[in-house]
Amino acid sequence: MNAQLKPSQTGDFRLLIGGKLVPGASTIDVINPATEQVVAACPRADVAQANEAVAAAKAAFPGWAATPLAERRALLLKLADAIDARKMDLARLLTQEQGKPLNGAIFELMVASGNIRGLAALELPVETVKDTDEAKVVRVRSPLGVVAAITPWNFPVIMMVTKLTPALLAGNTVVVKPAPTTPLTTLKVGELCAEIFPPGVVNVIADANDLGGVLTAHPDVAKIAFTGSTATGRKVMASAAATLKRLTLELGGNDAAIVLDDVNPQEIAPKLFFAAMVNSGQVCLAAKRIFVPESIYDAVCAELAKLAAAAKVGNGLDKGVEFGPLQNRMQFEKVKAIIEDARAQGKIIAGGEPHEGPGFFIRPTIVSGLPDSARLVCEEQFGPVMPVLKYSKLEDAIARANASEYGLGATVWSASPERAYEVAMKLDTGTVWINKHLDLPPDVPYGGTKQSGYGVELGQQGLLEFTQTKIINMAK
Ligand code: NAD
Repeated sequence: MNAQLKPSQTGDFRLLIGGKLVPGASTIDVINPATEQVVAACPRADVAQANEAVAAAKAAFPGWAATPLAERRALLLKLADAIDARKMDLARLLTQEQGKPLNGAIFELMVASGNIRGLAALELPVETVKDTDEAKVVRVRSPLGVVAAITPWNFPVIMMVTKLTPALLAGNTVVVKPAPTTPLTTLKVGELCAEIFPPGVVNVIADANDLGGVLTAHPDVAKIAFTGSTATGRKVMASAAATLKRLTLELGGNDAAIVLDDVNPQEIAPKLFFAAMVNSGQVCLAAKRIFVPESIYDAVCAELAKLAAAAKVGNGLDKGVEFGPLQNRMQFEKVKAIIEDARAQGKIIAGGEPHEGPGFFIRPTIVSGLPDSARLVCEEQFGPVMPVLKYSKLEDAIARANASEYGLGATVWSASPERAYEVAMKLDTGTVWINKHLDLPPDVPYGGTKQSGYGVELGQQGLLEFTQTKIINMAK
C-alpha cells in the first residue's frame, strides 16, 4: 500500500491551548524522511503561545487536582480508546513524518494505548508511616502543578503518553512539546485530548527547536519530564535549577549486548539483529555494541551479515518494508560520517553503501574488527549500524561494556540463566534483559545510570515522580 494522507488529514493541524485548537504564530514544514517531500505545514507556536499554554495549564490545575482520581482515570481510558479508534489514520501519519514502517507505526500506537491503560490502572494510596498510642502519621501524594513533557522524534506517541498519563493521573496539568521534525501525530493526539479533558488540562504546542528552553525556565512549570539526548538533558537540568523544578531525564544510551559462548550463532543472530536494528537503530535502548566470544565470532558475524543483506529497506508505507529511513537529515549525515570512520578502522561485512536518490536511507550495516575507540563503538550512533566486537575473557567484555559514559540498558544472551544473571549483576545500567530485548511493560520502571538519565519512567515508581510526598502527622 502506498496510500498518501487525504488533504483533510494533513491540512488541519492545530495547537491545543486552553482547550482551543488554534493555529500557530507561523508554520514549519514537516519533511517525510523517505521522500524528502513536505508532509504538512505544522503550526509553530511563538513564545507568547508557549506562555499562554503554561498559563492555561496553571489555571486548570486546581480543578483537575481536585477531581477524584477515578474520574481522571476514566478520562485517560477514553483517550486510550480514542487512539485505538483512530489507529490506522494516526499510524499512516506517523509513518510519513517519522519514517518507520507502517507495521511499526501501528505497533507504536498499540503500545501507546496499552501504556495509557497500564499506567492509568496504578493507584496512589494513602500510606500509614506509623500508628502508635501517641501519633498516627500518614503519607499522601499530592500533584506538583504544571508538567512540561518534552519528547524526541524516535517514538513520538509512546513518549508523549508515557509522560502525559502518570502526570494527569496524579492530578497535574500538562504542556506537551514534541520534537520539531515529528510534531504531527502528537498534535492529532492533542485533538483527541481536546474532546476528552477539561480546557487547559492538556496543552500541546509545536516549535522549531526553540521553545524547550522557555518551558524549562518557566517559573510556573513545576516539573520537566524530558526524553532526548544527553547534551540537551544537561541544558534542561541547568535551566531548571533557578526554580528548583522536579526532573525526569531519559537520555542517551550506548547499550552493550554480551553474548556468552554457550549460544547457537544461528539462533542468536536474528535476536541480536532485531535488538540493534529495530526502528532503524533509532532506539535509546537499542543494542549498540555487540560483544561476541572469539570461539563463535566468525559464525555470528556471518549470520548477521546474511540478515543485513536480506533486509528490506524502503518507504514505510510500501508493503513488506522492514526498515525505514533515518528520521532527519542531521541524523542521516551523522550516521554516514560514523560509517566512514568505521570503514577506515574495521571491516564492513554488510551494508555501508551510499544511497542513491531521495530519502535518508542507510541499509543495515554490520562492522567487524573495530577497536573500542572507534566512533561507532564509543558514541551513541543512533542508526542501523552494528559493531561486532570480539572478546576472549568474559570479565574483559563486562569491563568494556561498563567503560561508557552511558548506562541505559544492556542485554545478555546465554543458554544458562545463572551465568547470564551473574553477568547482569555486574553491568552498570538501569535495565538488563536476559535472552530478550525491549520488554517495557507499563508496570515495570526503567531509567538510566550515569549520563543516561535521572529518575525513571513507567511503573509505580514512575508515577510517584509526578507527585510530592506530603506527611500528615496527627496527635492522638
Ligand atoms: P534532542 O535532545 O535533540 O531533543 C529532544 C527534545 O528536546 C525535542 O523536543 C527538542 O525540541 C527539545 N529541546 C531542544 N533543545 C532544548 C532545550 N534547550 N531545552 C529543552 N528542550 C529542548 O533529542 P532527539 O534528537 O530528538 O532524540 C534522540 C535522543 O533521544 C537520543 O540521544 C536518544 O537516545 C534519546 N532518547 C532517550 C530515550 C530514553 O528513554 N532514555 C528514549 C528515546 C530517545
